[in-house]
Amino acid sequence: MGTPFDYFQQNFGLAADCLGLEAATRKKLMEPENIFKKEIEFKTDSGETKTVSAYRVQNNSARGPYKGGIRFHPEANEAEVKTLAALMSLKCAVVNIPLGGGKGGVEVNPKNLSQTELERVARSYMRALAENNIVGPEKDIPAPDVYTNPQTMAWMLDEYEKVVGHKAPGVITGKPIALGGSLGRSYATAQGGFFVLRDYLKDQGKKLSETTVAVQGFGNAGSYFASIASDAGMKVVAVSDSSGGVFCNGDQCEVPKLKEYKEDSGSLRGNFCQGDSCDVDKMKKAEVEMISNEELLALEVDVLVLAALDGAVDERNANEVKAKTILELANGPVTPEGDEILERNGVAVIPDILANAGGVTVSYFEWVQNRSGDVWTEAHVNQRLETVMHNAYKDLKAIKEEKVTSWRVAALVLGIERLITAMKLRGWL
Ligand code: NAD
Repeated sequence: MGTPFDYFQQNFGLAADCLGLEAATRKKLMEPENIFKKEIEFKTDSGETKTVSAYRVQNNSARGPYKGGIRFHPEANEAEVKTLAALMSLKCAVVNIPLGGGKGGVEVNPKNLSQTELERVARSYMRALAENNIVGPEKDIPAPDVYTNPQTMAWMLDEYEKVVGHKAPGVITGKPIALGGSLGRSYATAQGGFFVLRDYLKDQGKKLSETTVAVQGFGNAGSYFASIASDAGMKVVAVSDSSGGVFCNGDQCEVPKLKEYKEDSGSLRGNFCQGDSCDVDKMKKAEVEMISNEELLALEVDVLVLAALDGAVDERNANEVKAKTILELANGPVTPEGDEILERNGVAVIPDILANAGGVTVSYFEWVQNRSGDVWTEAHVNQRLETVMHNAYKDLKAIKEEKVTSWRVAALVLGIERLITAMKLRGWL
């Protein structure tokens, strides 16, 4: 079993082969321009001083300031952060926004920390970045990632401004709206994925109203996607979370009801079942059946949306997938071995690097608003997002046709070509 960054490295190799890149160029694209590493200190609630490893990796700035999330994770490490920073350079290039790639990590387990301790970690990390001139609105703009959120960004913004002595909302994105966050950011990943899928289905001559969808993962990305797809007329017939799946045996699911189930009992299945014992009458009335996650992946639907975990589709279950299209909202949900099988079976995989790039795109819009002092309406944000995603899809399709390759390799080729162009213009290659 690999990790998303193993998958990315393998896929990067495929794209580099497709372009016939020399070893030196491959290395230049993967190797960061800078690595900042520091043991940072924070005080626990009991007054003890703890030290944890913290990183900020800056991969490539040929196209603009570095951009990428900060993760708080017990297994955050330099190798992982390095690969994720390279992925960010390519992701920004694929959607053609004028930013480079970076990534940050702090090796802590947020589940073992109180809110006040989390705040001290966030401030200590940002202080280290600001005092060492690592980040800045023109230099490197972090954002939330695994186990960090708008509140974390608010603490970091405040700390940065204390160090530099002036307001600088453009130093970080994914902030709360009240501190300069962008409208539309909370559901941007799902919205961007929807725009791409809609373009793809249009090319296939498929009407949204005739398209059935199953969604694995009913968290931020998956639940917003289900709502957006359903509001646009698609038939969402099943969704799942870590407790299992719900199949709607009427014509389609009523997504607001699915959200109610989850809110009422904390999980989709919990509303109907306790352990193995399920309330059959309640299920019948709600026109739902409980299914396992494996069953959800194997449903006879047109589109399977993967919005939960990395490695969800691999060599063990790829043959079971009956959908003709997979949309990867999660990072790395299909392994390279899974990809090979899906390709043989004629399943199109719209890859994460494009499908979930709506998040970083609206982060970019947030930065544009902060630097200009403007505040965009939600409709304007979504209109601009639609244009960016549509153009990226169109550019990617042209490469796919030219190179006769998978969507994933085509996306990486597009990103690599754009990075190389910028690097050559600067005389770096
Ligand atoms: P989340 O924690 O809000 O949701 C994850 C969901 O997956 C939860 O509903 C959880 O119950 C479910 N899940 C976990 N294990 C499962 C399993 N075995 N089967 C089915 N469902 C399972 O996370 P999120 O923010 O929605 O992110 C999901 C994925 O999308 C991640 O890979 C993340 O990196 C990626 N992503 C998210 C964003 C974003 O803006 N939220 C942006 C880019 C990429």
